[in-house]
Amino acid sequence: MTTQKAHCLMLPYSLQGHINPMLQFSKRLQSKGVKITIATTKYLLKNMKELTNSVSIEDISDGYDDGGRDQAGSFVAYVTRFKEVGSDTLSQLIQKLVNSGCPVNCIVYDPFLPWVVEVAKNFGLVSAAFFTQNCAVDNIYYHVHKGVIKLPPTQNDEEILIPGFSCPIEASDVPNYVMKIEGPSILEVMVNQFSNLDKVDWVLINSFYELEKEVIDWMSKLYPIKTIGPTIPSMYLDKRLHDDKECGLSIFKPMTNECLNWLNHQPISSVLYVSFGSFAIVEAEQMEELAWSLKNSNNNFLWVVRSTEEPKLPKKFIEELTSEKGLVVPWCPQLQVLEHESIGCFLTHCGWNSIMEAISLGVPMVAMPQWTDQPTNAKFVKDVWKIGVRANQDEKGIVRREVIEECIKLVMEEEKGKLIRENAKKWKEMARNAVDEGGTSDKNIEEFVSKLVTIS
Ligand code: UDP
Repeated sequence: MTTQKAHCLMLPYSLQGHINPMLQFSKRLQSKGVKITIATTKYLLKNMKELTNSVSIEDISDGYDDGGRDQAGSFVAYVTRFKEVGSDTLSQLIQKLVNSGCPVNCIVYDPFLPWVVEVAKNFGLVSAAFFTQNCAVDNIYYHVHKGVIKLPPTQNDEEILIPGFSCPIEASDVPNYVMKIEGPSILEVMVNQFSNLDKVDWVLINSFYELEKEVIDWMSKLYPIKTIGPTIPSMYLDKRLHDDKECGLSIFKPMTNECLNWLNHQPISSVLYVSFGSFAIVEAEQMEELAWSLKNSNNNFLWVVRSTEEPKLPKKFIEELTSEKGLVVPWCPQLQVLEHESIGCFLTHCGWNSIMEAISLGVPMVAMPQWTDQPTNAKFVKDVWKIGVRANQDEKGIVRREVIEECIKLVMEEEKGKLIRENAKKWKEMARNAVDEGGTSDKNIEEFVSKLVTIS
């Protein structure tokens, strides 16, 4: 027996920062009556440390069932094999759902996997691309895809004019793949995100209209764009999803009690939270500079250093670190941390989820971008939304301890940082309004759902 309920199959890319927003978007859809199935890889499903019960989860194969992305050796090798193996196993899953009386109407996919559109077409399904990056970054990759921007620029301070942006940006603001620092093949995967976009029914962007008006208006002339963010649990925003538990799909185990107990003993707005996300690899020299800047700063700190990064911590720093001054953990419950009243600033690598989370919880930032889209995100944090400062690298590409210390001081203590702290509060309000009833993202999600219902 088939049901008439709209049913979306969600296919995120296999990274924590891509899974989190798609899971939260799924919960929003589900609260509006859409049935959701999330497909993740066999390897990730086996290795999840936290597994939500609120949506159904199925697995498909990326061709690396025993070792996941690390087994592939490179990003390009991984996405290539995922395409070869994933097309078949995704088709098998769709058929299985048909056979079980629960057919799918729509596939929402991560554009790192553009081949999903072909699978959707084979089954006569509608499809939506879900960009985890913001619209500004998508706009840059779009223009590289179209050959409009001639990159890489010859000089680091050369201004680049990009249609859709109100101000020029510099070479140091564009994703490093565009600069071909990581090799042209990765850039190819990035621009390929647009390769099947003329065949999709919707382009969903993990951002909100007020944050990126101009570039969203510009890109909406090209694609059926809908902003649906911030995609963080409703309990931190509009609080309309009553069964919204934070527990999600996590590849890492957070040290929840240790972090919250420690934060509970810290004064209001006094703590610096530091994290470089789920996969950035920080150079040993940079790690050393960062460690001593934290030790020297006036503020206490909570620092997430993943276990694979931990050996780079200076020995002397560890020996001298007291629990009064700081806590270093391999993973934390980031949203609970950012929401905690003791947090005064977030020193971040500028992963897009981290920025959306900081914006949603009103936390000002020190931006220390590492790679991918992070330099562009940092540019917007500092110059457009004015909710943080950027800690600049020296000619060796390292941010020195004095620079970091100065940035922390500016955001957390100085009069000069007051506007930044006030802006952070202002954007928090805007973020909540976007997903609250009648807000720009809420309306877009409603419209998406009502179209899904008519085709189901
Ligand atoms: N995160 C977390 N605990 C941590 C560090 C990060 O829960 O200790 C989460 C964070 O809230 C965000 C995601 O991991 O949702 C990281 O995504 P982001 O886009 O910021 O960075 P990426 O890991 O993709 O570089």
